[in-house]
Amino acid sequence: VDVIAEPGRAADTLAHLVSLGCRILHAEGHEHLCFGHLSARAEQHDSFHIKIAGLGLDEVTSRDIALVDQSGAVTPPSVRMHDELPLHRELYSSRLDVNAIAHTHAEVAVVASLELSRWDAQSQDGVPFVGRLAFFSNPELITTAELGRQLAATLGDGRAILLQGHGLVTVGSTVQEAVVNAVQLRRALATRLLARATNVEAVMSAGQIAALDEQFEAKRNARVDTIWAYLVRHLERDAEARHVHRTQ
Ligand SMILES: [Zn+2]
Repeated sequence: VDVIAEPGRAADTLAHLVSLGCRILHAEGHEHLCFGHLSARAEQHDSFHIKIAGLGLDEVTSRDIALVDQSGAVTPPSVRMHDELPLHRELYSSRLDVNAIAHTHAEVAVVASLELSRWDAQSQDGVPFVGRLAFFSNPELITTAELGRQLAATLGDGRAILLQGHGLVTVGSTVQEAVVNAVQLRRALATRLLARATNVEAVMSAGQIAALDEQFEAKRNARVDTIWAYLVRHLERDAEARHVHRTQ
């Protein structure tokens, strides 16, 4: 069993990357029934590839990735789409440096989002979001262009945004970066909530966080690539283990 290669599909197409990213998100604690989506800006047009509606993140293959153009037209036209397409469309039009967007309802993100503005980094996973995490204090689904524009304005040039009582959005210059951001942010939020629940006081100073941030940002691309490669190998091993189990 090979979860990475799909017969008849080039392994490096954006649709393939988006579907792989969806399965990684599911494996990394971003499950919420059939909700949450991942998209990638298309190469030649002001369009984007995005997961279709009705499937869990774990069920997505490259055949379940549709193309949405600037007017909202979907290819193939018969597929069901998520209601939050304006979230993606407005972020892509306001952030030309963004080529991929992940939106999930990860449980810890929902909990953390209920206490807006009380975020602080107390782990390596949290450092990349210091000064780069925004909060959207509106629990509505992002189903209109106006809400999409408000979300984009609140995110500004940030890396991620928590949506009150709803979940998270992360952006990246690549699918890999948007997914790694979502994985690290979820872990950082889980660590922070665990620290709060166990009454651990904050121990990292602003200076210590700034020093770590400088170190991580200097090797940002290599760090993202290394984490992504691990996540792909982890997904492959999980699929192999399930296959062995089924065939025994
Ligand atoms: Zn949502």
